[in-house]
Amino acid sequence: MNPLGPNALIAAIVLPFFYLAVYLDYAISRAQGRPDYGLNDTVASLGVSIMMSAFGVVSIVVRIAIYTLVYAHVALREWSTASPWTWVIGLLLYDFTYYWQHRMGHEWNLLWSSHVVHHSSDRFNLATALRVPSASMHLWTWVFALPLALAGIPPQVYAVASLLNLLYQFWIHTERIGSLAWFDRWFGSPSNHRVHHGVNDRYLDKNYGGILMLWDRMFGTFEDERADDPVRYGTRAPVQSWNPLWINLDTFWALCIDAWRARSWRDKLSIWWRAPGWRPADVAAVDPKPAFELSRHRHFETPTPVALGHYALLQTALLPAQLVHLIAIAAWLPFWPEVAYASYLSVATVALGLLLSPELRWRRVGLALEAARLLLSAGVALSGQWFGQLTLPSWVTWVIVAVAMASLVGLLAATVRNGASDMVAAPP
Ligand SMILES: [Zn+2]
Ligand SMILES: [Zn+2]
Repeated sequence: MNPLGPNALIAAIVLPFFYLAVYLDYAISRAQGRPDYGLNDTVASLGVSIMMSAFGVVSIVVRIAIYTLVYAHVALREWSTASPWTWVIGLLLYDFTYYWQHRMGHEWNLLWSSHVVHHSSDRFNLATALRVPSASMHLWTWVFALPLALAGIPPQVYAVASLLNLLYQFWIHTERIGSLAWFDRWFGSPSNHRVHHGVNDRYLDKNYGGILMLWDRMFGTFEDERADDPVRYGTRAPVQSWNPLWINLDTFWALCIDAWRARSWRDKLSIWWRAPGWRPADVAAVDPKPAFELSRHRHFETPTPVALGHYALLQTALLPAQLVHLIAIAAWLPFWPEVAYASYLSVATVALGLLLSPELRWRRVGLALEAARLLLSAGVALSGQWFGQLTLPSWVTWVIVAVAMASLVGLLAATVRNGASDMVAAPP
């Protein structure tokens, strides 16, 4: 049996539509001159999503295996998967545990340091939706679902419920849909999720619900969007990078530094469970950070050579097809080729993110990494085997080689043209 269960099938079918929707929405936004997308921000969002999905595929087998093990030993009763009620109750209970998982992800520094990735964009659009969950969230979110195993929700139902909950939240990341009246008060919607992404005092740490807003209304965390307080998106300590790897690590690294510099062991240990924004007094005294002011909150933007920006956007569009391919074959790929494939996709996102860096030295690193990646993909294809397992038809080999070589020429042309020194700003 496919150890990924129906998840792999659902993800392989749905993901291409999501990426297509992002590019379509991006193009419409540009044509209309709307400010909800930025080129660099979109490349970074898609890069984060490809990285996290690639490693999500690797880790999901482990997560479902742990759930299955716990379920086999502690389930108080067994619910039949043949009954529709099992699926309805499973979805409902999962949504409840999702509320607490999400809320703790905002209230505890350690968990926030991984959930922050979803809030790391200061834009609010369909690409932002795909910055979830971060790579490190795969390490802990499953813990919150274990009460479901105790309640006897079968592993298949948990797997599908968690995926559906995630997929549902895609459409609510948009500024194009306004208020939906009663719907906003009971279900996750664009209006109440805009609030969730807000850094305004009124909106901070509100509206955690996935599919239902019921939990927020029960536990006092619901907030309506207000026209007299427009939502400003992002975080109060914004990450200043387009590199998906650094976007995943930035907050965690800042916590490590503060924990290392704190003199008291109490502070070193408790910082991980404190609320985000808390800092050890002795560290804050020698290295103060300016207090957050909404009036000074701006989009993070850097000038990027136009040709490199468009190159990164185009190459990012080619990666989802490979991601879907990885998901489709992951069930019978051995572990290490799977890790190698996921790493290859992740390196691609890092290389493309670095190409957008405002610093020349990092753009050069991105250039070297991207050229190496293209040559590697051509080399792997020419070996006739894709990541050691899949025998490629010869026409596929030549398509991969041709795309890699054309990309290499495009990359060099973009670099020679204006990548090395000319900092002409790409459209924001
Ligand atoms: Zn959140
Ligand atoms: Zn969101």
